[in-house]
Amino acid sequence: MQTIYDVIVVGGGIAGYTAALTLKNLKRSCLWLGAELFGEKLLKAEYVRNFPALVGDGQAFAARLREQMEKEGIVFTKCRADGIYAGEPFTVTAGQEAYLGRAVILATGVETAGAVAGEREFLGRGVSYCAVCDGALYKGKQIAAIVASPKFAEEAEYLAGFAETVHAFCLYRGASFKAKNIVIHEEKPLAVAGGMRVEKLLVKEGELPVSGVFFLKDSAPPAALVGGLETEGAAVKTARDGSTNIAGLFAAGDVTGRPYQYAKAAGEGLVAAYSAHAYLGGAKA
Ligand SMILES: Cc1cc2nc3c(=O)[nH]c(=O)nc-3n(C[C@H](O)[C@H](O)[C@H](O)COP(=O)(O)OP(=O)(O)OC[C@H]3O[C@@H](n4cnc5c(N)ncnc54)[C@H](O)[C@@H]3O)c2cc1C
Repeated sequence: MQTIYDVIVVGGGIAGYTAALTLKNLKRSCLWLGAELFGEKLLKAEYVRNFPALVGDGQAFAARLREQMEKEGIVFTKCRADGIYAGEPFTVTAGQEAYLGRAVILATGVETAGAVAGEREFLGRGVSYCAVCDGALYKGKQIAAIVASPKFAEEAEYLAGFAETVHAFCLYRGASFKAKNIVIHEEKPLAVAGGMRVEKLLVKEGELPVSGVFFLKDSAPPAALVGGLETEGAAVKTARDGSTNIAGLFAAGDVTGRPYQYAKAAGEGLVAAYSAHAYLGGAKA
């Protein structure tokens, strides 16, 4: 029998961590998963001057969090969720894995760079964020991959196993790939365009015909992860208790909108954890 967790927390940043810590204190079973522990937005902070009791940079912040994680027995599972399906229970998929939870807290942060015009418009109509999920749909086709950093090179290689050509628009210098059918472009495309589906990318030199565009980056827009999720621009629409329009799905941190700050993310992680606890029949905070 597969484990059904009380709550699955998706996102390895400070919002997800605080939610996982709070759920532990509330004695709820919790699966806390994320693409990476704490992530670049925490690890790379030069100096944090606005988080209570913290004096130091992102590495110092992470060291304090790791110490607390160990003391409190908080477990982190490294994986990238590629789909969240509402139901009783919810199913969270990550590549070949599927996890079950009675409630879900979405704490996937916000992508502040790399967005391209038309990206959202063509979501599900040729725009994808998951090479493993959708790569096979493009067997023998011309596709593009917008590769945010070298850590996503492997996903571009995976796509090359299906597509005739992968046009890799690398948003970093010095890109290289093993597959011979990957063409490197060291620029950001201007727009995704087409009719009912993606047909081309607009680039500086003109147009590049492609039938699919993969955005390989840290955070996918929340609506790409959860079908039917109500958003306001890039942010998930939440009530003050972190609840969304989907019963049992809560959101916390940058994913709910500005201000993009650690203290707000931590506070919302705590609130969402209490709300998930109440949703599952526990006492309200
Ligand atoms: C360089 C830098 C310095 C900063 N300095 C400060 C500062 O000094 N003070 C301050 O208050 N704020 C600062 N910020 C802002 C702060 O980093 C954010 O507000 C905060 O990290 C938000 O936390 P979060 O948990 O909501 O999101 P994030 O920290 O973005 O964490 C979300 C995590 O979820 C992961 N994720 C995304 N999608 C998925 C998925 N599908 N499956 C699994 N995991 C996923 C991401 O990899 C990411 O690690 C800084 C930001 C940057 C970039």
